[in-house]
Parts: sequence; structure tokens; C-alpha cells
Amino acid sequence: MEPMTRQRFEDLVRRALDTLPGEFYERLQNVDVVVDDEPTAEQLRTGGVEEGHTLLGLYEGVPLTARENYGFVLPDKITIFKRPIEEMCDSADAVVEEVQQTVMHEIAHHFGMDDEELHELGL
Ligand SMILES: [Zn+2]
Repeated sequence: MEPMTRQRFEDLVRRALDTLPGEFYERLQNVDVVVDDEPTAEQLRTGGVEEGHTLLGLYEGVPLTARENYGFVLPDKITIFKRPIEEMCDSADAVVEEVQQTVMHEIAHHFGMDDEELHELGL
């Protein structure tokens, strides 16, 4: 589908955050959620992505469950990638849906769940 403006896409991400269940939202700690056009080569490596595949979103940081001795470190970062999401969607509605899924998925990583657990939950 036609790329949407960066502004519009960022609004979708913000809305996805706003519609998180309350207890989720309140427990979000020290995490930045940003939008980028595409993952960098390094982010693809971090995300363990195989050649020919891409990332829709990426969580980088220290999950809450692993924060026993957590001091003054950089905030966690969740990046949502605009172009790969647009490329797999054929309508604006599909993009809205995919952004919500991706935000939920990455936030679940922030809460310490791994991809296998998320897969079982359909996220
Ligand atoms: Zn994941």
C-alpha cells in the first residue's frame, strides 16, 4: 500500500500505547517507544533475523524480570519499523492492526516474555 506519512504512523503507535490495558500501561517503566523507517543491519542481527527476512519491531533492553540489580542505565527501547509493516499490509486498517500487534509483542518482551511464549499466546 501507499506509504503513510511519518506523522500518521507515529500517531498509530501512540494510539496503540494508549489502548494498552491499564495494568500494562502503568507497569511500563523506563522504556522509549520510537518509530524508524527500517531496521539497520545491526538491529537485524540483534533480532536474530535470517537473510531475506525483516523486523516489524524490535525490543532492546533489560526485561523487568531481569532487573534485580538494575541501576542507572539507558532506558529500554522499542522500535517500530514503518516500511516493513506497510509492505506487508494492503490497507490502512491492516496497518493499524499490525502496529497494535507489533507494539503489544515488543512490550511483552519488556515484561520478560520470550518469542516462544508469545507465539503460544498468538502474539
Ligand atoms: Zn519477538
